[in-house]
Amino acid sequence: MAPRRSKLPQKLGPLLLFVLLFPGSFPPPPVNGTGSGRAPSPSDSAESQQTRAAREGMIQDQIMARGIRDPRVLEAVRKIPRHRFVPPEMQSYAYNDTPLPIGQGQTISQPYVVAFMTEALELKPQDRVLEIGTGSGYQAAVLSLLAREVYSMEIIERLGQEAGARLEQMGYRNVRVRIGNGYRGWPEAAPFDAIIVTAAPPDVPAALVEQLRVGGRMVIPVGSFAQDLLRLRRTAKGIERENLLPVRFVPMVPERERAPK
Ligand code: SAH
Repeated sequence: MAPRRSKLPQKLGPLLLFVLLFPGSFPPPPVNGTGSGRAPSPSDSAESQQTRAAREGMIQDQIMARGIRDPRVLEAVRKIPRHRFVPPEMQSYAYNDTPLPIGQGQTISQPYVVAFMTEALELKPQDRVLEIGTGSGYQAAVLSLLAREVYSMEIIERLGQEAGARLEQMGYRNVRVRIGNGYRGWPEAAPFDAIIVTAAPPDVPAALVEQLRVGGRMVIPVGSFAQDLLRLRRTAKGIERENLLPVRFVPMVPERERAPK
């Protein structure tokens, strides 16, 4: 099968790699002009028009312009207030074309990468999804609008707790967050229709492949410095593997290790 990458504009690969590699080197101008990044309270459902316009700009200029077409994915991204998943001082950058720090040395992925990975999962409303690397909970929130149940694992206790509380407070009721090492997956809830991994292991963890049902898809960045985003598809005959995009994610904490201090 032709890699999806061929649909991308020629220069996008290296650009993307650069943006992902050096998130801190892109201090873009604030999108909503406030700069102070006040955290909206959970009851703050009336977003400013500027925030909505910034999100629509992100969808048009970053996501649709690069070829994401799945209407369900676009609708989900349109509905999730990304600015509420980043720290207050990062809120004015929330709709910019870049990953952002979320504390504990971790990052929320670039919006385009979230949309690309989500589209690649080919989710159906009845699906049950496993995410490894909850981080801010943003990707989990996007998944929650596209699938029946979302199981998300995070190794850094503080991030997992904060994301779990945030998701609950914001009303994403079909997401469960567990603190633990995602290398072993979530066997009690397996098999899954889809698995998304948002940190990069050197190789695809075998336990995760086992937890994919026949017909299921896994989207995962693999490699150390230069990583490839792969899609694995479990068929009755075995595992099909496609190379989708060059990417740069934080490394996945190895199987026998605990959370980084
Ligand atoms: N999906 C997140 C971004 C994730 S960043 C979002 O939408 O915000 C990658 C996350 O993976 C980090 O929070 C990191 O702590 C976590 N992680 C790294 N190794 C892990 C492992 N072995 N098990 C579970 N989580 C892991």
